[in-house]
Amino acid sequence: MIFHNAKGIQIDGRKDMCKKHPLIDYLNPDTVYIPLIQRHLKLKPKVDVGDSVKIGQVVAEVGGFGAITSHASISGEVKSFKKVWHSSGKMVEAIEIKNDFKNQLDDRIKEVKNVKELTREELVEIMKDSGLTGLGGAGFPSYIKYQTKEDIHTVIINAVECEPYLTCDYQFIIRFAEKLIKGATYMQRAADANKIVIAYKNYNSKVVEVLKPYLEKYSNIELFPIKDIYPAGWEKYIVEQVTGKTYSTLPAEIGVIVNNSATAIIFSDAVERNIPLISRPVSITGEGVKEPKTFFVPLGTKVSELIDQCGGYVEGLDPMQANYIAGGPMTGRAILIDDLVVNDTLGAVIVKPFEIRDYPECLGCGKCADVCPVYLTPTEIKKAYERKDLRLLDLLDASKCMECGLCSYICPSHVEITDAVSKGKALLKKGAK
Ligand code: SF4
Ligand code: SF4
Repeated sequence: MIFHNAKGIQIDGRKDMCKKHPLIDYLNPDTVYIPLIQRHLKLKPKVDVGDSVKIGQVVAEVGGFGAITSHASISGEVKSFKKVWHSSGKMVEAIEIKNDFKNQLDDRIKEVKNVKELTREELVEIMKDSGLTGLGGAGFPSYIKYQTKEDIHTVIINAVECEPYLTCDYQFIIRFAEKLIKGATYMQRAADANKIVIAYKNYNSKVVEVLKPYLEKYSNIELFPIKDIYPAGWEKYIVEQVTGKTYSTLPAEIGVIVNNSATAIIFSDAVERNIPLISRPVSITGEGVKEPKTFFVPLGTKVSELIDQCGGYVEGLDPMQANYIAGGPMTGRAILIDDLVVNDTLGAVIVKPFEIRDYPECLGCGKCADVCPVYLTPTEIKKAYERKDLRLLDLLDASKCMECGLCSYICPSHVEITDAVSKGKALLKKGAK
């Protein structure tokens, strides 16, 4: 067992910042920008400048392995194709759609009458057709997990959200508890599994409170509290806690599929109303904004607009000087400006005042090794990476690094140790080919 007696650490969550307000709908931005990229795949546009589009209409797609479609998240007119900042930290091509504020729905969006009769194959097809991806940050097309040849006995819904500051999953569950339960049962049917486990952080009693009334109807759904340490939301950690088993590459090897809670909620709408993935929750938080909030927004909404909805920046903070993180502070990506768009994997933008740090050398304190949940020695891996010593990287198990960011978080010298370890891991993978 990798995580037996898992270390991990308790981190000051800063989650209260966003919890002061319930989830806020921000469903009618003036313009959205639908990225023409999904993970590393480029999507081909299916619309031209000047076209009118309706909510839910296919606007771009890519075939082959990982095939995926993107849909218009508002109704309006295609104005242009232009480059926008994206959570990957890069500028990517996107379809600019100007809102006509008529909220016209594509013909595909209507109540599905025969939900109870849908077969396993039909449910997987709905997942594919809706462009559903892992909203926890992975962005992997969800249907691929369900096309496994393995026998699946359990679907785990990951509602742990262990990164500090992040509350979008939590607030989405509180608002849409019934949809979470329904989405999970459709996932169970799509996997032909017999059990659903919803894993949540043990202190989130509100999650239990909102889900419990529905559980009486479903004897095969279990709530599973996970202890409050980071990185308790890691897929491998949760699977091991729930099943007592570990796996090599995919949880399906041991009969398990894991989905993020927001993904299950969106899937409920896809099954019952044929609504594709067109919106998601996103938290705008951190010490740099006046009133952190979590919004439910159409994909393609500009983050700068959401920062305005939070009352803007704190007094004296120049937006050009702020630090921005797309995602959680542990595994998220530093981005340059607030002018990025909300895409499927973006659960939060953290805004922090600029900090001046000096970067002294490693003190040799060993704290990074103490906290590593998979028992690595990050400093040794860093040295092996710098020497490009593949044999030593292998001996030091660099490939086991989960890139959880704990070693950098704990380091009193602010050494970018996670970056070095993950580069060592990548070098080892490349060298092994
Ligand atoms: S990033 Fe890798 S080396 Fe650092 S603590 Fe996490 S698993 Fe360990
Ligand atoms: S925590 Fe930082 S200073 Fe301490 S051994 Fe690791 S890299 Fe060096």
